[in-house]
Amino acid sequence: MDPADLHLIPLGGLGEVGMNCLALESSDGIVLIDCGVTFPSDGLGVDIARPRFDYLFEHRERVRGVVITHGHEDHIGALPYLLEEINVPIWAPPHSAELIRGRLNEWGLLETTTLHVVRPREQFEVAGTTFEPIRVTHSITEATALAIRRGDLTLLHTGDFKLDPNPADGERTDEERLREIGDQGVRLLLSDSTNVDSHGESLSELEVGNELLELVSAERGRVVIGLFASNVQRLLHLGEVARKTNRRIVLAGRSLHNHVRAATAVGKLAWPSDLLVPLDRAGGMARESVLVLATGTQAEPLAALARLANETHPKLRLDEGDAVLFSSRVIPGNERAVHDVFAGFLRRGIKVISRPHRPKIHASGHAHRGELVRMMELIRPQSFIPLHGTLHHLFRHADLAREQGISEVMVMENGDVVRVSANAPLRKHGRVTSGRVFACDKSVVPSEVLEERRALAQRGAVTVTLLTDRNGKLVADPTIIALGVLSPRERDVLVLAKNAARKSYERLRDAGTFEEAALIETVRLAVRAAIEQEVATKTQVFVSRVAVQS
Ligand SMILES: [Zn+2]
Ligand SMILES: [Zn+2]
Repeated sequence: MDPADLHLIPLGGLGEVGMNCLALESSDGIVLIDCGVTFPSDGLGVDIARPRFDYLFEHRERVRGVVITHGHEDHIGALPYLLEEINVPIWAPPHSAELIRGRLNEWGLLETTTLHVVRPREQFEVAGTTFEPIRVTHSITEATALAIRRGDLTLLHTGDFKLDPNPADGERTDEERLREIGDQGVRLLLSDSTNVDSHGESLSELEVGNELLELVSAERGRVVIGLFASNVQRLLHLGEVARKTNRRIVLAGRSLHNHVRAATAVGKLAWPSDLLVPLDRAGGMARESVLVLATGTQAEPLAALARLANETHPKLRLDEGDAVLFSSRVIPGNERAVHDVFAGFLRRGIKVISRPHRPKIHASGHAHRGELVRMMELIRPQSFIPLHGTLHHLFRHADLAREQGISEVMVMENGDVVRVSANAPLRKHGRVTSGRVFACDKSVVPSEVLEERRALAQRGAVTVTLLTDRNGKLVADPTIIALGVLSPRERDVLVLAKNAARKSYERLRDAGTFEEAALIETVRLAVRAAIEQEVATKTQVFVSRVAVQS
């Protein structure tokens, strides 16, 4: 490729929410920006999905490193899966670096990985390309945008951002620097599309802090606050809320401990040492002095909020008169499960306060339309590509850019390759393999296995075992097991199915057919027909024949 050009190759995050991973390729090699996971909501025994790295593994000798914008799971969560295969250095701001260190330690990858800590306005070079992190405000702390320079090209990647005038950590988006970079001329702006459907400006975290203070002050029982554990901005305010309402903080949820530890380690959270009380001591404390921070706002069944709702939490019980504040939004698809968690509290006289009652109980970490326009005004790019969103979000954001007078606008999806040149228009340049890899407990769950699980979940399964002698003569009744197909009252259907299996098998065998596959297929169809005739349900039937020595 032309040494002056850059190729953009998104491997995740474009056309979906989560799993952000953008490969930047030049004649000097490949650099990744972020390497995140997503959390599939369809169950099937899978914890995470990460991008397919086929392209990186095929060109492993050209991969030079990963540059991280911030510490959210959808930006760092897939690093171990990559580093297991390719040992490359990472560049990350201090807070993300701390979170990454913890993760790599769990995976036994810490010793072998080089982790460079980067700071805003300080440039570094990877594979002949210069990167400059620029402070942006977000729901986590120390988030960055990236100015990317190579030869005559300057690109600006916003990362996840908002323009909060009053972030709890005091670090506002560095608009001054963004404007300077805009003054110097930016060939391409790549920008966060998450909230392109939301008008005006996002709510400031300060207003959320004030709202939480007012709500907690009004309560006399225990107060539980559900939140995303990574929201360091909110943790900062909650420390204040606890102090001002004479409550002590109790953490319920492992990820909260991790995030409090990491934010404290890098000096972003300075809670007084006596503010935190261990969870097992909360039961013995006066109710009005307890402020529980809890994970599980999306009703994850093993997280603290769901367990508190259904009274299965091993260390904490709530009583009538306590209150649960959901300082969160409901991710689409989780509404029903979240309302079940609400119901668990409401039935027991526990107050539930959420965003529909009190909109200021939560603020998004992502820019609304007004802020997205402001970013375009600061950068004044020649061209625009939207990032971080479903295709709907990307198209809406592309339209917004055109409305702002940016003429060269392109929507990319995962796997697209786009060439960026100083003197030629953006051009699609073919495609590479993209997609998802699912994993559970750090191990890959192959897509074939997931397909089987989906089919089992939807249609159940019936197994038929034919026991024969070496000549193929049945020596016992066929054994049939049905799972997820018949109710206990319908068990007599199995007798019919058993007869159908035996008759179809013997008929074919008596007619002289000994071809195994034909016999098996005949029995399979007969059993399926027998079951479907009785109970109008589609199922999958698996037949095997076992020949015994007799
Ligand atoms: Zn983020
Ligand atoms: Zn993100």
